[in-house]
Formats: sequence, structure tokens, C-alpha cells
Amino acid sequence: AFQSIDLVPPDIQFDITRRFLADSNNDKINLGQGAYRDENGQPWVLPSVKMAKAELGEFGHEYLPILGLKSFRDEATRLLYKGTRAFTENRIASCQSISGTGALILAALSLKRLHSAPDSIYITSPTWVNHQMMFSTIGYQVKELPYYKDGAFDFDAFTAALGQAKPGSTVVLHTCAHNPTGCDPSKIQWKAIGSIMKERGLFPIFDSAYLGFNSGSFHDDAWPIRYFLDELNVELAVCLSMAKNMGLYGDRVGLVSFATLSQDTAQIAESVMQNVQRSTITTPPAYGARLASIVLSTPAIREQWQKDLLTMSGRIKSMRKRLYDELILLETPGDWSCIITQSGMFAFLGISKTQIHHLEKKHHVFMVETSRMSVAGLNENNVQRFAKALDETVRN
Ligand code: PMP
Repeated sequence: AFQSIDLVPPDIQFDITRRFLADSNNDKINLGQGAYRDENGQPWVLPSVKMAKAELGEFGHEYLPILGLKSFRDEATRLLYKGTRAFTENRIASCQSISGTGALILAALSLKRLHSAPDSIYITSPTWVNHQMMFSTIGYQVKELPYYKDGAFDFDAFTAALGQAKPGSTVVLHTCAHNPTGCDPSKIQWKAIGSIMKERGLFPIFDSAYLGFNSGSFHDDAWPIRYFLDELNVELAVCLSMAKNMGLYGDRVGLVSFATLSQDTAQIAESVMQNVQRSTITTPPAYGARLASIVLSTPAIREQWQKDLLTMSGRIKSMRKRLYDELILLETPGDWSCIITQSGMFAFLGISKTQIHHLEKKHHVFMVETSRMSVAGLNENNVQRFAKALDETVRN
């Protein structure tokens, strides 16, 4: 059956990690993978998660319900929506998912079941590499909205294209820390985006994989969601990943939720999600959800988690400044201010593919061909070396 099929090339992002691991150079630097690293370049188990592990105890290995662990769903829903009218009026449907990826698939599949299901889904250009692939895999026509120009969010081009989007379609918005550009709309720009979406009846999916990484506060970073709910009174989906903000990457903890306009609709939406979940994965994994639930429901641990978010976002911010200062010192040709104006885990350097290949071959620096660098891969031990490598590369 497989003879007539061509070999599919490896995933570009995972392949960077493979090449990085295979490189025997001691000074190699990995700026490819979007995963937090501590000041020694090592993966970081959050102190709050360690505390939760100590609390966990024996729990057996039974299946979770189809919608997932109830305490996790409740805690994560409260975390996202507390204070909004939709939350107070019990108009939110939720389902535990296989991290953010699973949440997006579940949301998109559930939306397909609606009476007025759209066939088009709009994503930003550029965006996380997986968006295009996953939505087209499940049968959507994927369309792009221009998002980025000269180191910043291209508000004019984005809103002009949004204003032409097919009414009733779904639009995937990055709630904060846009991947790959690190450029987010300002509050004023979000308000304009919201008005256009409401006017055209576009359905927002808030892809929320980095809440807490911009400001260090989960709540502050989730502002656009609350704005859409309370000021625009629209329906929406939130696809939440706890991979980055709890460091639970491999445990695949996420939540998909729909905020609807009535309690009855929320019940229907939840029943649809339950059915989609059953027909795709049956039930989600338990371990990470138990940990996340303990973190969120235990006041002392939750306080520690808030500190952990500040530690991660603060270190990334200080590395942006360190890198920028080094490049200024070296008088590296070009405008590098985007490194400090962009936020979240990534900086989008705007250098060429040839330069990226040169960085890898000559300097053992690994990053995505689009010129996205994961700032979390920098630390005091390698930032100067990276700045020098970048300097040599752009002068080359
Ligand atoms: N959305 C965006 C924009 C992302 O960058 C990511 C992670 N790279 C995800 C969703 C989902 O990640 P995960 O499935 O690991 O939660």
C-alpha cells in the first residue's frame, strides 16, 4: 500500500533538535526548540511542579472521564475566565486536551460539527509551523492573513485582510507572545481587531500556548480573551497549553474551552467536544493534569507558580537586553531593536536562510530557517559567543 507514496521529510523543528544533539561541539547553542532553558541551558522543572509532585501521592491508573480530569478542567477554566460574565453565568464548555496541539484539533473538529460550520480557517502569516498542517489535515481550507513587517506587527495589512475574510469563518489568533515573530497587537489594536471580527461574524480561536511568558502574569497576558468576552460579547474558543507555562511539555496538558452565549449552548458544545474526544483519543492523559490541578488549587503552590512564571519571563527579558547590548557593543550592522521590542519566547531576527545555515555550519548555532530564535536558549555563558557569531555572520 505504501509503494506509491513519497518519503515525507522530517519535521523541520524536531530535526533541528536532532542535529543539535548529534553535534559533538562543546560550545554548540540550541536556539531552535521553543522550550524554556534555565541559566545553565538546562531544561527546568518548575519548583511549583516539584511541590505538586510531592503532594500527589498514590493515584492508580484508571481512565479519566472522556472530558478529562474534572478538577483540572475547573481550575483551568477559572484561571482563564474568572471575573468574566461568561464565567459568572456558567456559559463555558471545557474539555481536557492533549496539550495545545490537541486543543486546536479538538476545537477545529468540534466547530466543523456546528450547523453553520465554516470551511475556511484563517491563520496569521507567518505562524507556528503546525497550524497550516493540522487544519488542512482535518479538511479545512487554510487561508493566511499577513501579520509581520520590518520587525513588527503589520496592523494595517492584517486588519485590511481580516476585513475581507469570509463571514462566519474561524480565525486563529495568538493570545500573546506570537510564534514565531514575538510581535503582539497593542490593546488599542486588539480592540480594532475585535470590532472587525464581530462585524463580520468571524469566530475567534485564541491559541494560548504562552500565557505568562510576556508579562510574567498569566492573567495580564490573557487580557484579549476577557476583552472579547466582556466588551464585545462574542462566542469564542480558547486552546490552552500548559506545556510552556508549567514546563509540562511531554506530559501533554491542555484545555479546550468554548465561551458561548447561553448555558444551554455551552452544554451542547461540551457534548460535541465529548463526542469528538471519544472518536479521536477516547480520554486524555492523567498524570500532568493531576499535577497542574494541584498547582492551581493549592494556594502556596500556586503562589510559587506565579513566581516561576516571573523567573522564566524575567530571564528571557534580561537575555534580550544582554544580546541587544552585545550587538550594540560590536556595532553589528543592522537594526536589532526588534530583539528588545518583541516579547515572549521568540525573537524574529530577519536574517537570511544562507546566514542561518552559516550560523549552524560555522558556529554550531542551531535555529529555525525563518530566523526565529528561542531566546530561552541564551544564558550568561553563551550570549556573548552568540552575539559574536551573529556579528561575524552578518558581516560575512
Ligand atoms: N500553539 C502555538 C502557537 C505554539 O507555539 C505551540 C507550541 N509550539 C502550540 C500551540 C502547542 O504546543 P503543545 O501541543 O506542546 O502544547
